[in-house]
Amino acid sequence: MKLVIATKNKNKIAEIKHKFSSVSGLKLLDLSAFKDMPDIDETGSTFLENAVLKARAVCDHTGMPSMADDSGLVVDALGGRPGVLSARYGGPGLTDSGRNELLLGEMRDVPDSTRTARFVCSIAVCLPDGRLFDAEGRCEGTITRQPSGDHGFGYDPVFYVASLGCTMAEIPLEEKNKISHRAIALEKTALILKGLA
Ligand code: IMP
Repeated sequence: MKLVIATKNKNKIAEIKHKFSSVSGLKLLDLSAFKDMPDIDETGSTFLENAVLKARAVCDHTGMPSMADDSGLVVDALGGRPGVLSARYGGPGLTDSGRNELLLGEMRDVPDSTRTARFVCSIAVCLPDGRLFDAEGRCEGTITRQPSGDHGFGYDPVFYVASLGCTMAEIPLEEKNKISHRAIALEKTALILKGLA
């Protein structure tokens, strides 16, 4: 089976290839093979809605089975924000560290006991016959009081994982890729694909 991954991000492509290496008969393509694919507006109000929007648009465009993911940080004390707006939190022009400073500022008066948060990743697989499959991965943690570590990206420096005893940015990428929300969702998706391939 051929599967188009709705991304051009080389790190994501490498991680997805690695996670799907056990799915026999699967040939992965990515959006670099479909240069005329229009940008897709992420207008959904949940990670799953956005993943479905993207997977369906790529499937409609290519006529091939397609997969998309959407992910972000959900902070309980902020009513779930930044959520689906994680990449755009604070508006355009902010860097990852600017977004982390903004988040830590918003969380300044939140006590340690209620600083719980999670990274969530939703994946959708859309087939040309209209069938749709989805998977979700979560990684639980708490928001620190200052950034720490320089691995990873995004909110990793302010996301403390109790089982690791450090932030997500203090472990190498290979370790993160074993436990992350995306890793869990990709492992569930690999099982779905094994049933289809
Ligand atoms: P995307 O779904 O990969 O585009 O991620 C959306 C946004 O969520 C990113 O721009 C980051 O701000 C945040 N995010 C998603 N996954 C991670 C992660 O593993 N670490 C840190 N931030 C993440």
